[in-house]
Amino acid sequence: MYKVAILPGDGIGPEVIKEGLKVLKAVGEKYNLRFEIKEYPFGGEAIDKYGDPYPEETKNGCLSSDAVLLGAVGGPKWDRLEGNKRPEAGLLALRKSLKVYANLRPAVLYPYLKKASPLKDELLEKGIDILIVRELTGGIYFGPKGIEPIDSGFRAYDMEVYETHEIERIAVIAFEAALKRKRKVTSVDKANVLESSRLWRKTVEEVAKRYPEVELEHMYVDNCAMQLVKNPTQFDVILTNNMFGDILSDEAAQIVGSIGMLPSASLRGDKVGLYEPIHGSAPDIAGKKIANPLATILSVAMMLQYSFGEEEAAQDIRKAVERALEEGFRTADLGEGIVLSTEEMGDKIVEYVKG
Ligand code: NAD
Repeated sequence: MYKVAILPGDGIGPEVIKEGLKVLKAVGEKYNLRFEIKEYPFGGEAIDKYGDPYPEETKNGCLSSDAVLLGAVGGPKWDRLEGNKRPEAGLLALRKSLKVYANLRPAVLYPYLKKASPLKDELLEKGIDILIVRELTGGIYFGPKGIEPIDSGFRAYDMEVYETHEIERIAVIAFEAALKRKRKVTSVDKANVLESSRLWRKTVEEVAKRYPEVELEHMYVDNCAMQLVKNPTQFDVILTNNMFGDILSDEAAQIVGSIGMLPSASLRGDKVGLYEPIHGSAPDIAGKKIANPLATILSVAMMLQYSFGEEEAAQDIRKAVERALEEGFRTADLGEGIVLSTEEMGDKIVEYVKG
């Protein structure tokens, strides 16, 4: 029995989670897996009900589960709240409480989605298969922050802080992942300007000594942003800090077709994990039944793989997604094809998973 906490969240969150759950149930039936599934309020929805984006009940539910599946949080309704009372603060608190420091974001170009990529065909010929390994519980999002009045207005600050052990453990995850892939790690920093990046680089170099079979290169974040659109094929594993990973993974999502395609797993070195699509709550399309559920469905596959060790079930989901795309089924964000609603795409994946 696997215990899964479900946090649908806001905007398109509940819409895509519904489809993810359908697929989880379908593989469960096929492989005789039993799940104890419990839903908890989170984000804006929880603020409305309890005045807290990450209420105690939700926290206890998540901490006592084997895995957490999250939709997305946020929206204009809560945008005027103070920083620590916003839905996004719940997201940071959730990641911190689960201690999931390693965020894995695979950006893969499905051959059938070339047209959805804004890049020229010749740049896509060799395919794109990048794993972004993003540090998730440190750096500027968690460092000292504040705002204070000064004579001419205000002074606001957010501090980027990293300790050796935080860099070391995320680097190990990246090198271990690279061993199972093309054996190349690109560590992205801004070591020409930032002290924290210089420690990052030095620590990554130390870890690299334990992995002589993996090639290590360093790249400044501004160059990496450029290289991703100029020559994405050069990358295998990109290792980077919390903020750079946040930004670069959205860029990577776009070059492989749509942000609606990218799943993620957040891990801490044991079986407990947090799984979520990388996109946000997309208030502009919420309720229109056009959200792409594939990032969430692929996040379910990552959950089966990383938290439950159910490789075959995970692979079934990936194959079903690939088949649906190959046969021309698309959600609106993916461009030309047989356009399906959110629910219809979920049904299609269930149909292919079953058989
Ligand atoms: P977003 O990812 O929600 O949307 C960016 C664009 O991508 C929008 O045009 C949206 O329609 C589109 N999009 C996103 N997901 C899609 C999907 N599954 N299918 C089709 N199109 C999709 O980012 P944003 O607009 O910058 O943020 C909206 C809200 O989400 C904000 O409140 C933000 O703070 C929050 N947010 C939450 C998370 C999270 O919960 N993990 C992540 C990012 C942003």
